[in-house]
This record gives sequence, C-alpha cells and structure tokens, in this order.
Amino acid sequence: MSAIIKTEAVVLSKLNYGDTSSIVSLYTESDGKISAIVKGVRSSKSKIGKIIEPLNHLQIIFYKKNTRDVQILSNADLISYFVNIKEDLDATKYSFAIIELIKNLTAEHEENPKLFRGIVKILNMINDKKEPPAYLFGRFFVFFLSELGYDLAIDKCGICGKQITSNSAVGINFQVGLICSDCLKSHSGFETVATELFNYLICLKTNKKIISVKPKTVEDLNNLLERYLKYHVADFKGIQSFQIYK
Ligand SMILES: [Zn+2]
Repeated sequence: MSAIIKTEAVVLSKLNYGDTSSIVSLYTESDGKISAIVKGVRSSKSKIGKIIEPLNHLQIIFYKKNTRDVQILSNADLISYFVNIKEDLDATKYSFAIIELIKNLTAEHEENPKLFRGIVKILNMINDKKEPPAYLFGRFFVFFLSELGYDLAIDKCGICGKQITSNSAVGINFQVGLICSDCLKSHSGFETVATELFNYLICLKTNKKIISVKPKTVEDLNNLLERYLKYHVADFKGIQSFQIYK
C-alpha cells in the first residue's frame, strides 16, 4: 500500500546519492524515523536543497510505501532553521547531541508523536535561550531515557524501596538503579552519586528550576547517563557530538 503523507519532520542527517540526489534521515511526527530520497536536490536551483540540512524543522510531503526502505520526499517547507543555535557553539554541541540520540537509538517507522513534540520543544527552547543549552540537554536526556523504556527512578530505593532523600550521598548501579544511603553503606557493587549530582538529576526529572550547578556536575551527569544507556543498549557508542565540539 502506498500513501501521500503530509507531516512535520526534523532532519537528522543527509548523504549525497548519485549525481544530484540526497538520501536524508528524518524524524517525522507521523512515522518516527524514516529514510527518504530527495531527487535533484543538489542542483543550485533546488528550493528543497537549501532547507534540507540537519537540525532543521520542516513541513514535508512524502510518498510512503511500507515495502520500501527508502521513501520518496516530494516537497518540503521550512518551519525553523534555529538561527540562534547555529551561531552558538555550546547550543550547537547539545542540539546535535539530541539529533544523534534520535538517529542512533530510535527504530525506523516506530511512530512516537510525543517524542517528536519533545524534540521540537527542546530545540525551540535552546534557540530561544530559555536556559543554558547544557540544562536543556539534560532535561531532554532524562525524558528520552524514559521514552526508550529506561527510566531512572529517583524516588524509591532500588533495594529496600524506601524513599530516597537528597540529604546524604546515594548509590547507583545500572542494573538496580538508584539506592538510598543506608543501602549504599551495606551493599557493594554500587558507585556513589554525589549530593549535588543527585539534586541536579531531581531538577531535570521534575522540571524544577535550576539555580546554579557546577559545570563539572553537568558533565558528570551526562557521563553517568551515557554509561547507563551504554549498559542497556549494547551497540550505543556514546555521544560523538561531545567529542567533536569539545
Ligand atoms: Zn535502601
């Protein structure tokens, strides 16, 4: 069966194909991640060619055929190219980290409109400078983990079930999750999560305002969540964007 689909999309990547065409990876509102060929896009007269760039938020029309791996994109209009993100190195780094997570960790044709709206919302917030890009990335990362099915519970201890408080250091291992300070003292095989790190994680997960966090804490949490994700997804190699925009 084939259908003409009109939907919104965020461009994840673009590759040259043949003499004049490109193959793009898109995260769409209607169909999740798709690959699509855009014909004639590399000619200088192509209107679509100028707007199909990674990160851009588009309105697209494509011919969908379920039996085909690569769909055919017939039209695209620009909704936003996030001009402020592209002028700021930190905003670029974190925005491309988001694009990378979506590209590498979502399955093709697995629709998730909530995730799509989440991506668009966070990119707009980074672009509008609502908060430092690092915090907004952190907020996206914990949301994304829960959408993937790897939510990191912050309320109950993974061993005794008691409420975890942030008054003293808590523990973590990637199998059990977070544990309370009492269980941390009586069990081995857990690493300590510093109080500031835990409080930062709480702010991210509960959408609380972040007053001030040391850059080191932000980095430590990104690192912890990256390792947590690697533990659960064997072929996840970590976030390259953090290596590129150091
Ligand atoms: Zn406990």
